[in-house]
Amino acid sequence: LRHRDGSKRACEVHATNLRDDPAWEGIVLNIWDLSERKALEERLRHQAFHDALTDLPNRALILDRAEIMLARARRGSGTVAALFVDLDGFKHVNDTLGHAAGDRLLETVAGRLQSVVRAQDTVGRLGGDEFVLLLDPDPSNIPPDLIAQRVLDVLHQPVDLPESGRTVSVSASIGLAIGRQGSVDELLRDADFALYEAKRQGRASYVLFEASMQIEAQDRLALEEELQRAVGLEQFFLLYQPTFDLYTNRVTGVEALIRWQHPARGVLAPDAFIPIAEQTRLIVPIGRWVLQEACRQAAAWDEAGHPVGMSVNISAHQLAQDGLQEDVERVLAQSGLDPATLTLEITETALMLDIDAATVRLKALKALGVRIAIDDFGTGHSSLAYLRKFPVDTLKIDRSFISGIASSDAAAAIISTLVALGKTLNIETLAEGIEQPAQLEKLQQEHCGQGQGFLFARPLDVPGIEDFLEAVDTRSAPTAAIR
Ligand code: C2E
Ligand code: MG
Ligand code: MG
Repeated sequence: LRHRDGSKRACEVHATNLRDDPAWEGIVLNIWDLSERKALEERLRHQAFHDALTDLPNRALILDRAEIMLARARRGSGTVAALFVDLDGFKHVNDTLGHAAGDRLLETVAGRLQSVVRAQDTVGRLGGDEFVLLLDPDPSNIPPDLIAQRVLDVLHQPVDLPESGRTVSVSASIGLAIGRQGSVDELLRDADFALYEAKRQGRASYVLFEASMQIEAQDRLALEEELQRAVGLEQFFLLYQPTFDLYTNRVTGVEALIRWQHPARGVLAPDAFIPIAEQTRLIVPIGRWVLQEACRQAAAWDEAGHPVGMSVNISAHQLAQDGLQEDVERVLAQSGLDPATLTLEITETALMLDIDAATVRLKALKALGVRIAIDDFGTGHSSLAYLRKFPVDTLKIDRSFISGIASSDAAAAIISTLVALGKTLNIETLAEGIEQPAQLEKLQQEHCGQGQGFLFARPLDVPGIEDFLEAVDTRSAPTAAIR
């Protein structure tokens, strides 16, 4: 029906025949205006298929559109391209500038993505900072790799975030897959594999899906499941590598290094599983076990008359997680180990991920009486200003500097600078990965205090360390092998 104001209204009409009723003698029409209800229904239907923040199609509608495009591709000659776009560093913007700024950034990105494609293509949001572009099979469409490049370009333009008074620049990683015969699920899964690869290769790039990525992903998945089981079955053990005073040759401590006794693949080194443990957060229970076992062993050596400092590697996720301080406290209490015997090694990169949070965490750990070492120093991007703020006892200079020290003046100059820095800040320096006598000699010339490396000892099992401690004990003074 047309309303007096000219608008059309959706109505429901009920007609009742009362012609035989002497009081009425006619037909009664009851009319309800349903416009508001219809509008609400329409709104709800829209909401069910669109993302509330950006108003882009959500996962359900993306799947539906992809289905339709694939059907069209099969009827014609084209293919459908799916691009998974994931913003690099979105979490950082959200965490540091606030959610209002994060929302504004996502809205801007949504608009820019839409500007890159044509009307028949679909831009959707999967949630978080993940977007999808579906490119229509129309053969006149622009090639998908060009679109991927354009996406990188438009996202690279600075974004104003008035909420925070800041301008930020974001980059994205893009996984690209092309489909025709397969299912929607396969197409999107392939794009996801490619995205994973793009992120792994470093950010701000796009990667086209290849079948080998699926195999790698399956391997990774299998390893993940096995790792999950390994935690329950306690398939891990520790080796210990001694560290030395470079002038007295005394053992200054040992570093606990994890190994996985894999039921089929044999003994695996940390590089083969620690990255996966970090991604899946299994590093938290694994790290807890390492801490417990290392402290138990250190206490046992102490009791047997070979007191020796114990270093344990702590990963970025362990540091970021709330329970670390309690874990350390509990393990120290259980083992009865003197806290000063324990050193926690944290890589420079882990510390730099969130400097303010790391400072707070380190201070809390330090308050327990343990020592702190920065591992792989020189490979991250520390600023000296921060180094002063961290309560650090030891800098472990990364192996990459030591390997060049005997042959390269530049490497030697870096060591000499780091040693001087340590002296100024009252931090001990320890050189990692000493393999050759010439390297040792050079480090002694530079007055680096401690060292670790195959030249002295490889990582050893418990009896190996015990032999070592006894041999060192007899070789040097009885007070040897103290931290
Ligand atoms: P890292 O903490 O820097 O440990 C030193 C690594 O260098 C060890 O490798 C050690 O075997 C190796 N290394 C020592 N001396 C030499 C040398 O002279 N030459 C060469 N080429 N290598 C030497 P590993 O045991 O394979 O451990 C690798 C990394 O895995 C460690 O580096 C550490 O970051 C991580 N990791 C080991 N155990 C744990 C653990 O329990 N928890 C965590 N979160 N990470 C661990
Ligand atoms: Mg270490
Ligand atoms: Mg290291």
